[in-house]
This record gives sequence, structure tokens and C-alpha cells, in this order.
Amino acid sequence: MIEYRNEPFTDFSQEANRRAFETALNKVKSELGKEYDIIIGGEHIKTDRKVKSINPSNVDEVIGIVSEANTELAEKAMQTALTAFESWKKVSPEARARVLFKAAAILRRKKHEFSAWMVLEAGKSWPEADADTAEAIDFMEFYGREMIRLSERQPLTPLPGEDNNLYYIPLGVGAIIPPWNFPLAITVGMTTAAVVAGNTVVLKPATPTNVIAYKFMEILKEAGLPDGVVNYVPGPGREVGEYFVTHPKTRFISFTGSREVGLRINELAAKTVPGQKWIKRVVAEMGGKDSIVVDSDCDIDLAVDSIVKSAFGFSGQKCSACSRAIIHQDVYDEVLEKVVAKTKELNVGEAQTLGIDLGPVVDDKAYNKILEYIEIGKQEGRLMAGGGKAEGNGYFIQPTVFADVAPDARIAQEEIFGPVVAFIKAKDFEDALAIANNTDYGLTGAVISRNRMHLERAREEFFVGNLYFNRKCTGALVGVHPFGGFNMSGTDSKAGGRDYLLLFTQAKLVSEAL
Ligand code: GLU
Repeated sequence: MIEYRNEPFTDFSQEANRRAFETALNKVKSELGKEYDIIIGGEHIKTDRKVKSINPSNVDEVIGIVSEANTELAEKAMQTALTAFESWKKVSPEARARVLFKAAAILRRKKHEFSAWMVLEAGKSWPEADADTAEAIDFMEFYGREMIRLSERQPLTPLPGEDNNLYYIPLGVGAIIPPWNFPLAITVGMTTAAVVAGNTVVLKPATPTNVIAYKFMEILKEAGLPDGVVNYVPGPGREVGEYFVTHPKTRFISFTGSREVGLRINELAAKTVPGQKWIKRVVAEMGGKDSIVVDSDCDIDLAVDSIVKSAFGFSGQKCSACSRAIIHQDVYDEVLEKVVAKTKELNVGEAQTLGIDLGPVVDDKAYNKILEYIEIGKQEGRLMAGGGKAEGNGYFIQPTVFADVAPDARIAQEEIFGPVVAFIKAKDFEDALAIANNTDYGLTGAVISRNRMHLERAREEFFVGNLYFNRKCTGALVGVHPFGGFNMSGTDSKAGGRDYLLLFTQAKLVSEAL
């Protein structure tokens, strides 16, 4: 097998690539407004309860109309997944991995088409959508190989007279509840990690991006995944999601999303219900309140570039986004001034236009919440750039910079999930690190410094799952930067890392006396 390598990103400065992407966008546009069914055990089910998926860049454009499940259909999906588990768990790990490799190959061929769906349904810019698709391919290539590795004979201390073997076996039926912000990559990663390990799942996609999750179901079908292994069950989280979480036969829940929902899932999952004979495993990847620390001795332009990219990429809708710029007082004014200047140059516009820097935010809920935080920011800091809505028939928000924010201010502590960054002044490097560590979260962080001893100190003391030096704090690559954080950022899992599949398996030791 070829060694795993990351899928390259598309170079949109090449005319041919731009054309190919335009063609894909036009193809997807010709398919807008279709209806999408629930899929349980390969059976397509329509319901009267429909939810519209719309284009956040143009709210009058309907991306698709999706049937939503109720609890009866959720129960049907659970039963189907339970039945499918009995056969899927017996399929060899290599054969399961091959389904992922095949799916990755299909997705690679349809790459731009999938990215185009994300441009239109999630409001991702071309490069952000392209990176999302590449990451989805990476997850399948990586987890396929990981499962093969785990199915090999595992190292155990030899004991004369015994043959000992350790097997990683699947858990059962899992509930997969992914986010809308990486509607392909994270949906694919969470789903295929569970499935390649031999589990079957009920997938409750994130409502704003139901259609892209459906398109992924088509790929799994084409790749030959047996019916019932992944069941597509859109619906309201409070109803369908919670039905899965509280079901006695649910063995594990894999969730990525907000802290509020993650904690609720964790609580609900902890309560043993009649008919349940295991402790449910919860894998939760929640929020972040991520900082870039800028030291006095640093490359200022690099600091500026890192802050702007990390704060405003995909309009700050990444749990890895920089929402706190913690700057040494000696360089504070210079970094602030340059970040403000650069921010003012950013283009906000429809995601389908190549060259925009920020598309819209995902929906009205996000839009209103972010605008409220901007108002709070106006009380808590000095508004330097942005500060409100941007033009357009969608959920556009100006990239916003606040200066002189106190480390414990709400906009310095609460996850906004939008294009808003708070500048905080630090007395010295030690103070900067203390401020960086003063949130409930611990997902990503970056330090921009030339001081080797400071970097070493941050290596030990900056308490985040993904710490970056002299670069942005977003854009973790599968296999290269295993992703996931500490504290209220989740259950300390590492997506795209060697430990990840273990979360979806249990280890069985068989010892035979010879
Ligand atoms: N893995 C992504 C990154 O490194 C962020 C994922 C997320 O926002 O959930 O930027």
C-alpha cells in the first residue's frame, strides 16, 4: 500500500483549475432545489416534515429540501444499524478499509463538485471548500490505514508456553452528530472512523448542511458500503439527536459542535436507561477560545498575517479560529495597526466569487449571535475595524477587530464563532502566557516569537491540544497535526491521529496455553 500523504490543495492561480471549479459550480447550481430523503438501511424515506437548506450568501436560493425524521424513524434507524452491526463487524478490517479507499478515490474524482456544494450550502470560499474536501479524502485514506495497522498482530510481552493476542474489536452502534462548519471533512472523518473500526452508525447531520452530508451518502453507496452500516437521519437535534443519545442500545456518541450541546450530550449519555448494559462512550469535540501570543522579539508581518488568517478564515467559524490576539506591550501598537489595516482590505462577498476573503456566516442564528457579541465588544473594547453587518442578501458580517480588551471580558472568554478578534495587551511574555491559559478551553494556540527559550516555555506551559509556533493556529492536517483540545474543548480526542480509532474499539485479549 502506498504510504499515506495529504491530498494536495488546488492551486486556483492556474486557469485550468479555475475553469474546472466553475464547471463544477455550474453543475451544482443546475441541481439546486431538489428533494433529499432519509436513508435507513438503503431504503429512501420521504416525510412531510421538510427542512430547507439555503445558500447563506443568497438567502433566497434553496440548496435542497430535506425530509426530517421523527422518533419513530429514529428508532427504525437504530434497529437497522443494530442488525447491520451483526454482519458488518464480521467483515475483515482490510475489506472495511478498502471501502474507505474506494470512497476516497471517488471523492477525489468529484472533488470540485463536492467543494462547490460547500461553497453554496455552507458559504465556504473556494480555497476553504477545497481544503475541506481534501481533508475528507485524507481522513478516509488515514483511517483506512490505521485500521489495517490495528488489525495486525499487536505487540505483547512474550511469555513461554502461551500464545497471546490482542484484538481491537468494534463497540456496536454509534450516534454520529457532526458540525456544519466542516460539513464534509468532519462528517466524513467521524463517520468513517467509526465504520472502519467495524461499528455501524446513525448519522444525524448538522441541519444547515444536510445536503452535503447526503452527497457523502451517495459516495458510500457507490463505494459499496453495505446498506444499514451508515443511516442518514436528518432531524432536529433536540428530538432525533437526543433520541439517539438516550437510546439504550447506543454504544457510543461521537459529537463535534458547541460546548453547550456537547455537555448536554455528555450528561444525557451518562444516565443509564433500562435495557442498557454498558457505559456509553462519548467522544466530544467542542469549542475553543484560541489565542495567538505575539512576543516582543518576532517577525511582525508574520504575526499580522497569522492573526488575520486565523481570525477571519471562513469568517472565524472554526473552533480553531484565533479570537484573542495577546500582544507584548512593546509591539502592541504596531501589530494592532497592521492587523487593522489588513482587516480593512479584506473583501466580504458571496462565497461563489473567487477572491473573496470572507463569505457569509452560516445562518440567521449565527448571524444574530455574532452581531450581539459585536455590540458587547463595543462596550468592552475599542472598535478598530468592522463592527456590524456587511452588504448582501445573506448573512454577511464585517471582519471586526477590538483593541484594549480585558483578559476576562466576555468577548475574551466566550466563543463567538464569527469574524471577531479581541486584542489584549500583555506586560511581558509570562503575562501573555498566563492570559492565554485563562479560559475554560484549550483547543489551539500559537506563539509568534524569535526567542527560543520563550518558545520552549510555551511548549510546556501553553495548555492547548494544538500549539503552533510561528504560524497560524488553524488548518490542522490529518496525520500531521492530530486535532483536538483540552478542558472544555472536549474529551481530549485527537482526530487524524494514531489514537483516534481506539476510541471506537475495545481491546480483547485472547491467551492460549500451548
Ligand atoms: N481542524 C480545523 C482546523 O485545524 C478546525 C476544526 C473545527 O473547527 O472543528 O482549523
